[in-house]
Amino acid sequence: MSAAPLAPLDVAGRLPRLRERLAAAGLPALLVTKRENVRYLTGFTGSAGVLLVTADDALLVTDGRYATQAEEQLGTSGVPARVGIGLTAAAQRELLAAAVRGHDRVGLEEHSVTWADQREYAAALGAEVVPAGTPVEGLRRVKDAGELDRIRRACAIADDAFAAVVTRLAEGVTERQFALELEFAMRERGASGTSFDPIVAAGPNGAMPHARPTDRVIRRGELVVCDFGCVVDGYCSDMTRTVWVGDPGPEARRLFSVVLESQAAGRDAVAADVECAAVDKASRDVIAAAGLADAFSHSTGHGVGLEIHEAPRVASSARDTLLAGDVVTVEPGVYVPGVGGVRIEDTVVVTATGAEPLTLAPKELVL
Ligand code: ZN
Ligand code: ZN
Repeated sequence: MSAAPLAPLDVAGRLPRLRERLAAAGLPALLVTKRENVRYLTGFTGSAGVLLVTADDALLVTDGRYATQAEEQLGTSGVPARVGIGLTAAAQRELLAAAVRGHDRVGLEEHSVTWADQREYAAALGAEVVPAGTPVEGLRRVKDAGELDRIRRACAIADDAFAAVVTRLAEGVTERQFALELEFAMRERGASGTSFDPIVAAGPNGAMPHARPTDRVIRRGELVVCDFGCVVDGYCSDMTRTVWVGDPGPEARRLFSVVLESQAAGRDAVAADVECAAVDKASRDVIAAAGLADAFSHSTGHGVGLEIHEAPRVASSARDTLLAGDVVTVEPGVYVPGVGGVRIEDTVVVTATGAEPLTLAPKELVL
């Protein structure tokens, strides 16, 4: 794997775009508490820290462990934000309250604060706290060149790692052993970790969409669902391949060809300005036409970025429309108890005219 430097992230361009959104919503201040959102807006990667954003100020409050790192990372990203260090939670809330002074309302990220957080901030900030929706998640949807470079690298590492270890599936390994070898191969190629615990589900275990790898030995004649991804500089990849270890028999072959066709139909439906629900429908219709509607028990896909699951959802109930620069998965599957499962998943970038796949591993894998 090439160790070429990653393209720079445009972190400093993000706070101005957030302020435009806050102004449009008539919100004088936003307290950003979700870790991925703090990272997105500042470049700060510490495990504890919140960011208060107003029209003319930004204050990152963290604890003593991160004093040096916070200054360094803000400096590197060129984000004009102050750093406040509070050694206790109470001291941190006092720093925030001082920065809030003069503003009558503070928005909270309503999907990521707990009830206890809300009560504490309401008591401590000296302003009304109000639900602010998910403005940062909205900004995070369209990826810049630096973000795409990281996701592309994470996808390439996953592809390469899988190619290096896939034949092990036919050598009598257990699901857990294979998951471990796949994770090792991704880390060895430069990933900082997995984007989630790999799913390796053979034979009847494949009928559970989120099966956990077991000590079951993978045998000839089984389908093996492998769903995995890795992280490069904070950005995730996500891919599923269903491998035939020998001939899985006529019913499993039929399930496989239906899902392969469904995945292609979903991918072909992806383009900017297309409704997410229409992509889900394109995949789902193929599976329904084969009489397997009830066996496709999850949505077709999801956004991928700093989180493995982020906006937009690609689901029948989704109301979003795809944007050029969204990164989404297309991952239909069918799950038949007693028989097994098939899922095929790519991570793709949405373009004006279609989808550019980032996961390129072959889909028809027979060992
Ligand atoms: Zn996946
Ligand atoms: Zn996925």
